[in-house]
Amino acid sequence: VDFSLSPEQLSLIEKVKSVASRFPETYWQGIVGEERFPREYWDAVVDESLLGLPIPKEYGGGGGELFDTVLAAEHVARAGCGMSGSIPLILGPIFGGVLIAAHGTAEQRQRYLPGIVAGEIWSGAFSEAHSGANVTAINTRAEQVGDGFRLHGEKKYIGVVEVAQHMAVLARVDGFPKVRRTDGLSLFVVDLPNADLSSERLDKLGTRYVDTNRVVLDGVAVGEGDLIGELGHGWDLMFDVLNAERIIVAAAAIGTGLLAIDLAVAYANQREVWAEGEVIGSYQGLQFPLAEAKARLEAARLKVYEAAWLFDRSDERCGVATATARYVALESSLYAADRAIQTFGSAGYLTETAVERHWRDLRLFRLAPISDEMVLAYIAQYDLGLPRSYGRSKASPAAANGGASPQPVR
Ligand SMILES: Cc1cc2nc3c(=O)[nH]c(=O)nc-3n(C[C@H](O)[C@H](O)[C@H](O)COP(=O)(O)OP(=O)(O)OC[C@H]3O[C@@H](n4cnc5c(N)ncnc54)[C@H](O)[C@@H]3O)c2cc1C
Repeated sequence: VDFSLSPEQLSLIEKVKSVASRFPETYWQGIVGEERFPREYWDAVVDESLLGLPIPKEYGGGGGELFDTVLAAEHVARAGCGMSGSIPLILGPIFGGVLIAAHGTAEQRQRYLPGIVAGEIWSGAFSEAHSGANVTAINTRAEQVGDGFRLHGEKKYIGVVEVAQHMAVLARVDGFPKVRRTDGLSLFVVDLPNADLSSERLDKLGTRYVDTNRVVLDGVAVGEGDLIGELGHGWDLMFDVLNAERIIVAAAAIGTGLLAIDLAVAYANQREVWAEGEVIGSYQGLQFPLAEAKARLEAARLKVYEAAWLFDRSDERCGVATATARYVALESSLYAADRAIQTFGSAGYLTETAVERHWRDLRLFRLAPISDEMVLAYIAQYDLGLPRSYGRSKASPAAANGGASPQPVR
């Protein structure tokens, strides 16, 4: 594997840094305080053609690989934006772009991909309160009515509903023959706003740059043309979206962890407490944890690059690599953010030093889009070859093993 960057990728990184430099910490503090979508930043990202990176050129995109978005997510985060700058890169390009480019019809690609390049936002509505990590147990259903469907159900934790133009909804088709637990699951595109779809914002610890919601679908009408992929087999399509999302999250976390270390080092190099000229950065008690955090992040970054490299080659090892990358990226970045807070001391607990924002924004990603436990369960099963540890049917353990994994293999 050769991760040396092409001239185009090096200039992409410079472009990304230049965008980030226009959105200093004061901007992000304002966004967090107002709890609103970073619209000005989004417009800048659109103007610099950063959303189209993984979209085919014929639809106005960059025609690049997921690896380019990985570089953009990592470097925009490290340049000062943190997760709030990098996670928006998922909202159109991955939820909509990767999904439609890989699985949409020619008509759907023409209908949606140019809009993603131009800044249309996509929400992904998969999770429900009662089913939790067991996404195949969702209750949202698609009722066949004439040539189309009506969607009924309730989703929870759904992002960007207030600002999105499209929502990819996972629902189970009424009456679809069910041999495996995944049979009947289908993905539909709902255009927003929609009179039969309502949402209620949920309050939360971090990631206040996007709204998170409970969503009610009360007979939302969709046509045959709004179905993505084959009816009843939507689970298979999720593989591309979920792996791509996790790889970008991991890259964003690496950039944010490195940013937290940068901030901590700058502070530690000037803060004096005990004697003039003796900065706190000279104490090994602070140095070693920061050095350890840096070492962990550097190692994790290689795993993230490897996962993206495998994804771009449709290599079947991508599933295990993605799970491993996601785990080590979040573990190392949260450790870095925590050590950054410790380096700042009490100042690190205050909003004004930014490191607490990075810790709060990172913390989500040990829970969503997939939790640490489900990532480890996947590694245990698919990398180590241990038995699946959950969801075993008393009647037939074999049937459970033939069921769905919340961490798809590509
Ligand atoms: C801020 C935020 C934004 C989100 N955005 C979206 C979104 O845009 N779209 C969307 O569809 N979803 C979204 N989610 C949902 C998220 O992706 C998870 O899928 C969902 O939270 C999982 O369900 P649960 O949290 O109810 O966990 P539960 O399944 O109730 O799990 C609770 C705990 O048990 C553990 N656990 C569960 N099963 C096992 C097992 N087999 N072995 C070991 N441990 C286990 C879990 O890891 C967790 O620690 C978001 C969540 C949050 C908090």
